[in-house]
Amino acid sequence: MYFPSWLSQLYRGLSRPIRRTTQPIWGSLYRSLLQSSQRRIPEFSSFVVRTNTCGELRSSHLGQEVTLCGWIQYRRQNTFLVLRDFDGLVQVIIPQDESAASVKKILCDAPVESVVQVSGTVISRPAGQENPKMPTGEIEIKVKTAELLNACKKLPFEIKDFVKKTEALRLQYRYLDLRSFQMQYNLRLRSQMVMKMREYLCNLHGFVDIETPTLFKRTPGGAKEFLVPSREPGKFYSLPQSPQQFKQLLMVGGLDRYFQVARCYRDEGSRPDRQPEFTQIDIEMSFVDQTGIQSLIEGLLQYSWPNDKDPVVVPFPTMTFAEALATYGTDKPDTRFGMKIIDISDVFRNTEIGFLQDALSKPHGTVKAICIPEGAKYLKRKDIESIRKFAADHFNQEILPVFLNTNRNWNSPVANFIMESQRLELIRLMETQEEDMVLLTAGEHNKACSLLGKLRLECADLLETRGVVLRDPTLFSFLWVVDFPLFLPKEENPRELESAHHPFTAPHPSDIHLLYTEPKKARSQHYDLVLNGNEIGGGSIRIHNAELQRYILATLLKEDVKMLSHLLQALDYGAPPHGGIALGLDRLICLVTGSPSIRDVIAFPKSFRGHDLMSNTPDSVPPEELKPYHIQVSRPTDFKVSAH
Ligand code: ASP
Repeated sequence: MYFPSWLSQLYRGLSRPIRRTTQPIWGSLYRSLLQSSQRRIPEFSSFVVRTNTCGELRSSHLGQEVTLCGWIQYRRQNTFLVLRDFDGLVQVIIPQDESAASVKKILCDAPVESVVQVSGTVISRPAGQENPKMPTGEIEIKVKTAELLNACKKLPFEIKDFVKKTEALRLQYRYLDLRSFQMQYNLRLRSQMVMKMREYLCNLHGFVDIETPTLFKRTPGGAKEFLVPSREPGKFYSLPQSPQQFKQLLMVGGLDRYFQVARCYRDEGSRPDRQPEFTQIDIEMSFVDQTGIQSLIEGLLQYSWPNDKDPVVVPFPTMTFAEALATYGTDKPDTRFGMKIIDISDVFRNTEIGFLQDALSKPHGTVKAICIPEGAKYLKRKDIESIRKFAADHFNQEILPVFLNTNRNWNSPVANFIMESQRLELIRLMETQEEDMVLLTAGEHNKACSLLGKLRLECADLLETRGVVLRDPTLFSFLWVVDFPLFLPKEENPRELESAHHPFTAPHPSDIHLLYTEPKKARSQHYDLVLNGNEIGGGSIRIHNAELQRYILATLLKEDVKMLSHLLQALDYGAPPHGGIALGLDRLICLVTGSPSIRDVIAFPKSFRGHDLMSNTPDSVPPEELKPYHIQVSRPTDFKVSAH
């Protein structure tokens, strides 16, 4: 067992000299202040009874009298115990002589995970008993006094990281789960990254950290918001889905570089990688264009990136929305690996294969394919069956698996209609190797691409579970996706429009005329930041002209402009051109730490169903407490209290 002393490394790692920024603004005062403060390792034992942390002791401390406070990690044969704090583990020798009987009793009787304070001398371990896997493995503590600060009852699970526990149990006893090495690492790394972000934004680039209200009103369009009852009958606050309106109003107010570590709320139900409350690094600037925002974010990430990871390389590549969809079937492509979508319509212009013929005869019909490297070797027949079922169930599409170079006996009968010349042309276009497999589909461009985009990721996961390394786990592949459409057809009514980002996003300067003729075709000044196939940020240049904003809201989006009259009015009082972005902090830290879920980088997250399993939230409220809010609860007849 070993518990690396990672904390000092984390602090050192994150305390990089400021020359690594892309656009440093060298204020001489800031330079000297920051350079000296950033190289310091924090004083972890100031103001408290301990003299040192458990994890920091080394041979250099030999002979020192120390006082340590920590949790008993384990005890062996009543001769020594291992004490743990956030910084690591240290071995403590339990005294055996009569004169220290009371110390021995305290240390031997206290259950595991009890909190103790010990004082003693740092000594070397006897020759041959050093533990090279433990950062404190050369030394141990010869105890003189010990105090039991608090005993621990029988635990619902062992704290040790390698002991598996269900997530529900971890969330129920979150305060115990937080003691694990992994949670400590995640939350401390998060704090350090945020610290560096603040430093970069405020100290190096003059941003102002401003808090905006949490009790607000409904914003048209966008995500579903939580309502908070007020004492005025029938009137509600909304919890903001983001500080969007406020940050724009701050620009009108002349606070021309705003940022906030902002808590946002979206009542979007359960999704594995979402939380009803989450945190954004929210940014807005006046007099900026898209490239300005992009450079700012590249510099911000480069500056705050942990040193134990490969450095961030800037500038990040850029791809248009159309290209992302055509090549990866999604607006958030995972660019760590290939398997790109290839348009092979031309190969099949004269095909005899019915469903391909059919698709190509339609106006936007295409034939597309992806190549699964070594798919013939690693994918099984039942994998192909479930891929075909997925395509049929979710996309109403056919998928044809084709082995171009191998003669698999389960090559589909339809594939036998592929002519030799077509086979050779496909091998050339798809660059297939001996054991590769091609998945082919036909249909309307967007639909075919979306399906293949999904299958590309599914197959990558499948190959990886079978031992193929497709995605380097140490690689961070950033990508800007730009030139989004300004509007998308509404899901529930495709004849109506909704904003692809939000209704305050400015149209692409070359497409403004389209707003009045073919709004569906207008591109926007919206940009997303993608990391390893996850959207970690998004923003836009905003509309700062009240008339254009009113036209988009009222005429194109059919929204009630009265709800936004304050914003429209503000735009009329000399609003500067402005734009901004928000980074999803939870998702970013999740990816940086390689955590399986964003819940692993949030101290007290909600469960999959939006519940706090520790405190049992949300909870019911007695009717008399609802009275001041003029609210009555009517329970559905099939209402059941659910656990998670
Ligand atoms: N408020 C936007 C969001 O939460 C980000 C932005 O446009 O700045 O997605």
